[in-house]
Amino acid sequence: MSTFLGMPAAREGAGPSPQAAPGTLSGIGRPEDPLHWGASFPDAAKAALENGQLRRNLGKATSTIRTKRARVVGEVPDWEALRDAGSAVKTDVLARLPELLEELERNVTARGGVVHWARDAVEANRIVADLVRAKGADEVVKVKSMATQEIGLNEALAEEGIAAVETDLAELIVQLADDMPSHILVPAIHRNRTEIRDIFLERMADAPPDLTDVPRELAMAARSHLRRKFLSAKVAISGANFAVADTGTLAVVESEGNGRMCLTLPETLITVMGIEKLIPTFDDLEVFLQLLPRSSTGERMNPYTSMWTGVTPGDGPQEFHLVLLDNGRTKVLADEAGRSALHCIRCSACLNVCPVYERVGGHAYGSVYPGPIGAILTPQLTGEKSDLPYASTLCGACYEVCPVKIDIPSILVELRAREVSLSGASPETADRVWKAAMKAASFAMADGGRFRRAARVPRLLRAISRNGVIRRLPFPGSLWTRSRDLMEPPQQTFHDWWAEREERR
Ligand code: SF4
Repeated sequence: MSTFLGMPAAREGAGPSPQAAPGTLSGIGRPEDPLHWGASFPDAAKAALENGQLRRNLGKATSTIRTKRARVVGEVPDWEALRDAGSAVKTDVLARLPELLEELERNVTARGGVVHWARDAVEANRIVADLVRAKGADEVVKVKSMATQEIGLNEALAEEGIAAVETDLAELIVQLADDMPSHILVPAIHRNRTEIRDIFLERMADAPPDLTDVPRELAMAARSHLRRKFLSAKVAISGANFAVADTGTLAVVESEGNGRMCLTLPETLITVMGIEKLIPTFDDLEVFLQLLPRSSTGERMNPYTSMWTGVTPGDGPQEFHLVLLDNGRTKVLADEAGRSALHCIRCSACLNVCPVYERVGGHAYGSVYPGPIGAILTPQLTGEKSDLPYASTLCGACYEVCPVKIDIPSILVELRAREVSLSGASPETADRVWKAAMKAASFAMADGGRFRRAARVPRLLRAISRNGVIRRLPFPGSLWTRSRDLMEPPQQTFHDWWAEREERR
């Protein structure tokens, strides 16, 4: 089986990576707040749009995954029924979350695990650091976990002198490059193979000096590097795709098998999981293990599905800790309009179809959660004012592909309305401006002659266009041209063209 790294070859004369500092392989560094970093979305998007190589990398990777997904989803006759089932299970979970979490705790504990509750990032990081120190370890292996990225666990452990080694290949690339992930499923989607070869040669001490940029060679180099880490690590840290309340079982799905090495080899396993990852019964896995792989990697099933229930003497980790993370989730749960964002199973299908994401990439969103789901989840988790709800055309493609039917466009509209209220703009002022604009339009359109003359006015803008494009307009037109180009208006209006044509007949 070939290894898909989401990394096209660099083209000749390609520019640097998005937002990479010149002369270094480093990306954007590790931010203090993983849910809110970097420039505002409009500024970051503008910078990203100027990077042609980034757009080529993203366009190729997302279109490949989109095509694969559409093909395998098309094979399932009851796909819509599965989506309905997934959505119904998640609605049920959110309706009785406290009760189900307690059931999970009882069942994990009964099978030899220890459950810890963390209200926020600081508490979760403290719990994990204390557990690792208690084992006397100064290095841990990790299987990709968005929850630990969200709380900045690696950085918190580093402050305690503990090195956390990412074992998901793409995540390892991001970590070595001192970068941030830019996609939920393919965190290094913004890097091409040549860049990855350079990152390995510079940052991975045991990389072969004659390493090429052939994906298989890159994967082999990472594999032998990680093998040494797996064999020496005493503690592993994982995320979880699902936690089953009625059995206390945790599940991780992945493609590389590195996760399974993490989950089985070390003596101690610590799982950090957002409280919404719960499902009520083992049977519910049947729905999600069909929905998730087809939506995320376009595969019929995941190459590796690992499940564990507490500890088993003589088999696998002998100590298991589950850290249940809130970090803003109960606040989202309390919000009737936005709570379905917690249905998300992090498949990334919405990113791969989003025309905005495809052009600007994940870093522009300034959060570990990019794309359409990030645009609704991040502002809700942080509770901060945000321009992310505007990072969408509201085309609805994200809703169509979402395996658990999250109505992302409706939530975006709701969040936009809240942003407007927060901005202090009075609804009366907006109403007055709207009415004035409508009055002016109605005046112009009420008379044929007036309408024809009004339609000719935009032609004046041709005087400031360059190569058929207008890049900058004075206010209020600047609100548009700040982040987009305006096409040059035509020399002739349709009315004039039609009149001329009739005259010639
Ligand atoms: S919002 Fe839906 S499509 Fe997007 S990552 Fe979550 S589950 Fe997948």
